[in-house]
Amino acid sequence: MELSDNIFIFQKGFNYSQDGPGNRLVYHLCGCNLKCPWCSNPEGMTLTEKAEKLSVTDIVKEALSCRMMFIDGGGVTLTGGEVTCQKPAVLNLIKALKENNLHTCIETNASITDCEEIFSEVDYMIADFKSPFPDKLKAVTGADINIIKNNLLYRAKTGKPLLIRIPLINSFNASPEDAVAFADFFEFLQKESNNDNLFFEILTYHEYGKEKYEKLGKEYTVCDGFVTDNDVKALAKEIKKRNLKLINT
Ligand code: SF4
Repeated sequence: MELSDNIFIFQKGFNYSQDGPGNRLVYHLCGCNLKCPWCSNPEGMTLTEKAEKLSVTDIVKEALSCRMMFIDGGGVTLTGGEVTCQKPAVLNLIKALKENNLHTCIETNASITDCEEIFSEVDYMIADFKSPFPDKLKAVTGADINIIKNNLLYRAKTGKPLLIRIPLINSFNASPEDAVAFADFFEFLQKESNNDNLFFEILTYHEYGKEKYEKLGKEYTVCDGFVTDNDVKALAKEIKKRNLKLINT
């Protein structure tokens, strides 16, 4: 068995609609290239000895045995951590699932290069877009905005579904200037791609990761992250003003 036949996960389970369409079997893959201070899965940022190793064949068998559960257009979702940290095996897995007529979805931070084959193969892609401002994004998360923008444009131009999620966080990306810059980039994506399956969703800040950080002995550094209804409305208004598709999953 080749190394690229193995996937390392830290969690799995079913979830309805929030990790792609319908009821889905969701695998959380180990490893992430970024360092978002609000991450709700800090235990998955690195590959630890607690990780479970599954072969592509094992996952396909497991997914096929769950087929009856995939109601409302469901299937298999790969999330993280960051799925593209394990890109050779992820590509193999997506192809194998599709060969078995199973619907595939990934959730990605879209900040790694050379993932075009994954981004064109997968049936449904969910991607974070955390800040429209390059310096702030780099300083807080470590991501290069140009790589993310290129990846999102690449996927959008395939015409396949792309859901872009904005984690809205006070004191990071919830100002009126952010709202305009977010919406301007989304409008550019829509115009450049002409993709009818381009959707946007606002996720408000939560502290699901705080306790996990403390358990791991790490400092949770986000202070005052909660946003107001008005912050959400301001961003929603800018997105809707440009006739873009804002949804709630
Ligand atoms: S990209 Fe996602 S998984 Fe990685 S650190 Fe940020 S929030 Fe966590």
